Amino acid sequence: MICAFKRDNALCEPDPGATAPRQYACRSGCGNTVRTDTHARQLRERADEIDQLAASAPGPLGQRLRANADRLRETADAHDTTAQTAEALT
Ligand code: SF4
Repeated sequence: MICAFKRDNALCEPDPGATAPRQYACRSGCGNTVRTDTHARQLRERADEIDQLAASAPGPLGQRLRANADRLRETADAHDTTAQTAEALT
């Protein structure tokens, strides 16, 4: 993920006048987030790895791992449905 920092809509609550994000406080769903197609592919690959771990994990742990994998796929799907070409952004 890439942070295209704009202070006014940053969810990491930067100080007034800040020119950089508080990356340690990065929050999911921030509108400053930018992903490439490669990032989306990597999210799906990681989701597949997590599902493999889940297959051998006991009940609640396996469920939690599958839920994490599902969230990664949802993020990748959101990228695919909202992605714009570099040409469209310039
Ligand atoms: S919440 Fe994350 S993506 Fe958003 S401005 Fe802060 S560091 Fe960047």
